[in-house]
Amino acid sequence: MILYAKLGLVDFKLSVRMTYNVTLIPGDGIGPEVTTSARQVIDATGVKINWEVCEAGAEVFKKGLATGVPQETVDSINRNKVALKGPLATPVGYGEKSANVTLRKMFETYGNIRPVKEFPGVATPYSGRGIDLVIVRENVEDLYAGIEHMQTPSVAQCLKLISRKGCEKIVRLGFEFARSQNRKTIHCATKANIMKFSEGMLKRTFEEIAEEYPDLDAQHIIVDNCAHQLVKKPEQFEVIVTTNMNGDILSDLSSALIGGLGFAPGANIGDNACIFEAVHGSAPKYTGKNVINPMAVILSGIMMLRHIGEFKAALDIEHALYITCAVDKVLTRDVVGDANCASTTKFTETVIKNLGRRYEGIQDRAYKAISINNTNIPVAPIQPKERFIEGIDIFFENTKPIGEFGKLMEEAALEASVKLKIITSRGMKIYPTTENTTMDLIDQVTARFVGDGSLNDSQLQKVIASVSTRAQWAHIEKLQVFDGKAGYTKAHGED
Ligand code: NAP
Repeated sequence: MILYAKLGLVDFKLSVRMTYNVTLIPGDGIGPEVTTSARQVIDATGVKINWEVCEAGAEVFKKGLATGVPQETVDSINRNKVALKGPLATPVGYGEKSANVTLRKMFETYGNIRPVKEFPGVATPYSGRGIDLVIVRENVEDLYAGIEHMQTPSVAQCLKLISRKGCEKIVRLGFEFARSQNRKTIHCATKANIMKFSEGMLKRTFEEIAEEYPDLDAQHIIVDNCAHQLVKKPEQFEVIVTTNMNGDILSDLSSALIGGLGFAPGANIGDNACIFEAVHGSAPKYTGKNVINPMAVILSGIMMLRHIGEFKAALDIEHALYITCAVDKVLTRDVVGDANCASTTKFTETVIKNLGRRYEGIQDRAYKAISINNTNIPVAPIQPKERFIEGIDIFFENTKPIGEFGKLMEEAALEASVKLKIITSRGMKIYPTTENTTMDLIDQVTARFVGDGSLNDSQLQKVIASVSTRAQWAHIEKLQVFDGKAGYTKAHGED
């Protein structure tokens, strides 16, 4: 790193070798192999890093720690503010939470930046099209908050929580990132046409904030079309801002366009800490086989070096990777198959040997640090001038015929001095009357009760009390109206 100092009237340029403290989490499965490779390459650039090796993931779960992240690891990231992380295995569909998600939430790394760039020497059906896009994925909200409940023994619910604050932070990060890389266009990919409140919140926020960035061509795209366009014409995209789950899927899809997950790096960006990691997981079937491609973690290391201001070392590694792949043609199994492939260690040694060489076939981007000042603008909660409660939705476990259940709800409404407006199954009207006779009902229904005017909490409690004596309720939602706008959606078939 070069520091500029001023002494009296004279400017001095000082070359100072700083030592950086970085938390290194080797991770599970192939994690130790790929992080060792990245560490060796980074160390070989001459940048001085004091790696604090910390645990997280499968081994920690096995020791009985439910978060999968020990306090020493949390303390280390808090101290160092920067971490390079290998993949962590997550138990699927039961038990513990993902230690990855826990880390992202613990350090409020609200943005996940995932570049997807065509790599010279790595032949794909898209080679030569100049793919160079970045997915900016919201990283702590949405369905990945992991708030799930079984409403009945056979009906599961996952809450998709999206906040104005979360949207504003990720949208500002997207725009600032696009500017820092001199990008010209930015897309926002949502499913706002169906989920008008949750996904719609990101769309509306994006469209508002776009006004502050007239230098960028900002466009909204529906996420399914975005997936289609990514496969059809990926070179049209530069930066795509999107919600957590959409971003997870789109970034895996995009990585396949440039050679696969072995080439997809990522950075989890927060105001207090940044965690750099590959998009890929622990690929357990390859553990210890010395065949895996370490490039995604090396590329994540390049992002980390730029984040700490070591731009030259980052560029040196980038060019060493280009030479290794495009000139020396040293490529791992995921690119060339079993015959003539390089092992993980051979690939790493070749990259280190190539440090200092320059590849002529690619124009370097003028990287700048992302100015995160603008992402730190405090976002106050929206304060409506007027608000009232129009009613309540109550979700039930029910196996009775719908006519019989409806009569019970009519009685409960009468008792609580409210009206039963509608009963629905998975968002579709089934009572009082329905033309849809082919509906395959499940053991869960929702009854919507409304008052003549605004209701208060004690009236709502009366409704809950009166339905409780007649049926098994599982979940409730207030029907709120903010500044004259309903804060809930109508069911299909509702007036
Ligand atoms: P995965 O580990 O990403 O592996 C899926 C496939 O991608 C592999 O079988 C392999 O494809 C290819 N691949 C992944 N990394 C590669 C690399 N470095 N080089 C070459 N090819 C690579 O996904 P998964 O099997 O669904 O998940 C395994 C575990 O990882 C799960 O426990 C999951 O929860 C966890 N996970 C962790 C993270 C994270 O820590 N951030 C992210 C995703 C998943 P082929 O089979 O075609 O060779």
